[in-house]
Amino acid sequence: MTLSPRQQHCLKGIGIRQWLGRTAGSPAPEAIDTAEIIEAPTTEVIQQARPEVPAVPVAPPPKLDTWDNIIDSIHQCEACELSQNCTQKVPGVGSAQAELMIIGEGPGHEEDLKGEPFVGRSGQLLDKMLLAIGLSRSQVFITIIVKCRPPNNRDPHANEVKACEPFLRAQIKLIAPRVILSVGRISAHHLLNSTSPVGKLLDQIHRLPGSDIPVKVTYHPAYLLRNPSAKSIAWKDMKILHQMLRSL
Ligand code: SF4
Repeated sequence: MTLSPRQQHCLKGIGIRQWLGRTAGSPAPEAIDTAEIIEAPTTEVIQQARPEVPAVPVAPPPKLDTWDNIIDSIHQCEACELSQNCTQKVPGVGSAQAELMIIGEGPGHEEDLKGEPFVGRSGQLLDKMLLAIGLSRSQVFITIIVKCRPPNNRDPHANEVKACEPFLRAQIKLIAPRVILSVGRISAHHLLNSTSPVGKLLDQIHRLPGSDIPVKVTYHPAYLLRNPSAKSIAWKDMKILHQMLRSL
């Protein structure tokens, strides 16, 4: 669009550069007089022009050095979007002096309602598996990778697991279990930093990265309920776990 001399004068007056499209017969860009091109202000100029904004105090990260601190911090946490839709947080259940720590994935519907990991049919099966090696729920500590329910039981996203990791690490540090039982794919993958199928992780005893704590992987009870033929493998896992606890 061709501007009249008056329009061009107005634009120049408010600091707007007229953008010239190249048309047939018009001069090549290098032939355009660049003397009137208005340069963008440098960063320095922008920073000088910006009004002073008072610094917003950043809350220090919560101390996760006592059991009460960990539980309180979990209940107050809004570090990821899972806090927006869950009914309540699910920090874990059991003994803080447990020798065996069981780590699952995240709360499902029933866990979300009750505020406790592994309830419902999966929880009943886990209880039976523990009973088979002489343990009750109150003698172990059971927790999960993320403490809030992912919507529609989807897998937790990597950033959500990362946001929740300090709580799990603090729980492991305080409990200092002799053995960890990692239950299901999501737990095994995040704890062991692995992408191997659970079936391939069953055959060996792992170590929690950065520690000496042995980790036994087993199938999730929900998987066993869907695939009863895998229960014999889970029973083998429990016998290995029992042996590990006795020998340590
Ligand atoms: Fe906080 Fe963990 Fe819940 Fe995310 S999942 S809001 S990090 S407690």
